[in-house]
Amino acid sequence: MKVFEKSFLQQEPLPAAAIHAVTEVMQSGRLHRYDTTPEHPGEVALLEQAFAAYQGSRYCLACASGGYALYIAMLATGVKPGHRVLCNAFTLAPVPGAIHNCGAIPLLVDTCPDLTIDLDDLEQKASQAEYLMLSHMRGHIGDMDRITAICRQHKVILIEDCAHTLGARWDGRRSGSFGEVSCFSTQTYKHLNSGEGGLLVTDDPELIARAIVLSGSYMLFDRHLAAPDAADIAALAKTTPNYSGRMDNMRAASLLGQLPCLDENCQRWNERYGVLSEGLARIDGITQPVRDPREHFVGSSIQFFLPDFNQAEIIAFVDACADRGVQLKYFGRDEPQGYTSRYDSWGYLGQAEQLTQTNHLLEQLIDMRVPLTFDLDDCQLIVDIIAEVLGEYV
Ligand SMILES: *Cc1c(COP(=O)(O)O)cnc(C)c1O
Repeated sequence: MKVFEKSFLQQEPLPAAAIHAVTEVMQSGRLHRYDTTPEHPGEVALLEQAFAAYQGSRYCLACASGGYALYIAMLATGVKPGHRVLCNAFTLAPVPGAIHNCGAIPLLVDTCPDLTIDLDDLEQKASQAEYLMLSHMRGHIGDMDRITAICRQHKVILIEDCAHTLGARWDGRRSGSFGEVSCFSTQTYKHLNSGEGGLLVTDDPELIARAIVLSGSYMLFDRHLAAPDAADIAALAKTTPNYSGRMDNMRAASLLGQLPCLDENCQRWNERYGVLSEGLARIDGITQPVRDPREHFVGSSIQFFLPDFNQAEIIAFVDACADRGVQLKYFGRDEPQGYTSRYDSWGYLGQAEQLTQTNHLLEQLIDMRVPLTFDLDDCQLIVDIIAEVLGEYV
């Protein structure tokens, strides 16, 4: 019997350049982003500059987490208590959490069989909200041409949650370049790993100015490099609160050391995804979400459906895979486990509406992380185990 022995949670070590850069920050004692010298602008400011260049954005702000970046991105675009924010029903808990943190009300949008946001439902609900927090959940990118058209038509401000699409593109254009403001996470299980961290990008000078003050800039605006003039930021400072959530120089140094490897890592993810996806496609009883040819995703996780099985059968399948070392996550459980919390377990939202398509999809949906510590043979072994378990099973 084949058994898989590697951990689905094990990430790769940081590149030597990142380790060296973090060590240098520790040796300098200058860990706070505003603890700079005339010769050295600090790693956070340099990271913001480098990331803005990578994204092709004018401005960037690094902060304490991806969820925090989403929160202040919304505040900086003008989300106020009581505002309605459209949001994918299929997303992870930090997204509705960030909306709730603003005192705003999430208006959940149904899910398509390809796991992207349902554009008919979005269109129908667009007149009831001022904002769309669009999650490219699990790296599935919806039709951005139509999404931006719907937003324009209904005067809805688009905020992109790119936690799973750092390095991805839609029709040649970077994910995160469509929204008024876009946010990325550098938490360990995303595409860059600083333990915790978030990056916010925008081309709007007033928006970034507010975000900088909100993140806790202590009037030190002149120490930002991917930002408008300090005087323009200062103009907003007295009317904008400090919701302290900065990034520090150690994390920024680690990210500066990783950024040069990002595109290559995205390719490595996709090689692994390719082996998994092609293998799963040959197994009876498994279907996969269809990908639009305009979507250039990063396969850092893979999703598939078991349409012929009921909940008890799928749980038995997941348990049998786990017994052989293959850790799958099932979104159809009654009680959330780990990150598989569903919209109906976010009780604080008081959401009454049941989204039938989303429910139907989640009942059959399996999710698997693809860490770069797996090689292509590992991916093939995982496919073989899933095939064997499903073969035994049916
Ligand atoms: C991880 C994640 C975030 C941000 O999470 P943090 O842990 O706060 O960095 C936002 N949206 C999605 C979909 C995520 O998976």
